[in-house]
Order: sequence, then structure tokens, then C-alpha cells
Amino acid sequence: MGPPGSGKGTQGERLAELLHVEHIAAGDLLRREVERGTDVGSQVADSLAKGELVADSLVIDLLLPKVEAAAGDNGFVLDGFPRSVAQARTAQHLAEEGGFSLDAAIYLEVSRDKLVERILKRASLEGRADDTEEVVHNRLNVFEEATGPLGDFYRNQGLLHVVDADRDPDAVTADILADLGV
Ligand code: ADP
Repeated sequence: MGPPGSGKGTQGERLAELLHVEHIAAGDLLRREVERGTDVGSQVADSLAKGELVADSLVIDLLLPKVEAAAGDNGFVLDGFPRSVAQARTAQHLAEEGGFSLDAAIYLEVSRDKLVERILKRASLEGRADDTEEVVHNRLNVFEEATGPLGDFYRNQGLLHVVDADRDPDAVTADILADLGV
């Protein structure tokens, strides 16, 4: 978990490689649907462009087959999911049904000013359509409202690790691995 620009994608990829597990990123999967012009893509394009959350059922249908396959294999790092307490509850039910559970929830913490600066810098490098100043502020607001409360949800379960992600990526990765006891 972490706000836009906190480094979920970078850290997710690194962790997956180091731990030999699958990196499953909700945003990447959604953007791929839009690029491919699928039915799901046309249903989510507008929300992605505005920085709103897409419907839970659409994200879950996209993620579930990949998560189940990875759970039956070495495991997974989920990046960008769950993004609300409702999604977390659904995920918990599905995991219980599937006979697997979460080991940890990692929260990447970065100040809002720094996030805006990082994202606008990334915009000029990657050209992501939702990296404009207006949409970025909306994505940050959506994060604070919908995803922020997830911290408490996982803290109550004893799964939460808060990592200071306002540092260079190597230091963040090292902290995450230390928190996971790896
Ligand atoms: P960021 O965290 O930088 O916003 P992501 O790639 O994780 O980037 O997400 C991009 C967009 O994809 C979000 O603004 C939202 O529209 C959609 N999205 C990603 N994950 C979810 C999710 N779990 N539930 C609903 N919408 C999601």
C-alpha cells in the first residue's frame, strides 16, 4: 500500500524478484485492458483518466485468477490492491476460500509535497495519462479517503509494516526486507 508516487511499482517489482514470487499490480493490469481495447478496458478508462477507483468487481475479476495461480506456486506481492477496506474484506474472504493468507501489509509513507513532485517528474519520463497535476491531486485525495483507513485494518490484524519511503529506493527495499524478516 502507498499513495500514488510512493514507489509501490518499483518496490513491488524488486520484492517479487528477490523473493521469487509474482508481482501483481492492479494499475498495470487495468492499463493493459485499456491499451488492448477490451470490454473491461472501455468500462474502466474513464475512472483511470480521472484518478477514481474502478468498480471492485472489475478489479477483483482481473486479479483473482493471477493471485490464485501465484498462491498455488511461490506466492505473490500485490501492488495497488486492496485499496479500500471493502476490497480488503472481500480479499480476505476469497483468500480464506482459496486456502491462503497474507503474510504482511507494507505501507510506503511519503509526504504529500514530495509525492506531487515525484509524480510530475515521472510524467515527463513515462507519459502516463493520469500523471497530470489535476488528476494527481484527485488520486491523492482518493488515496487519503479510501486507502488510508486500510492502515488501521491491517494494524489491527498485526500485519502492518510502515516504511519511510521518502528515501532512496535501495534503503526502502532494505527496510521492507528487514521488516519481513528476510
Ligand atoms: P497510483 O498508485 O500511482 O495511482 P496505480 O497504477 O496503482 O497507480 O493505479 C492507477 C489507477 O488504477 C488508480 O488511480 C485507479 O483508477 C485504478 N486502480 C488501481 N488499483 C485499483 C483498485 N484496487 N481498485 C480500484 N481502482 C484501482
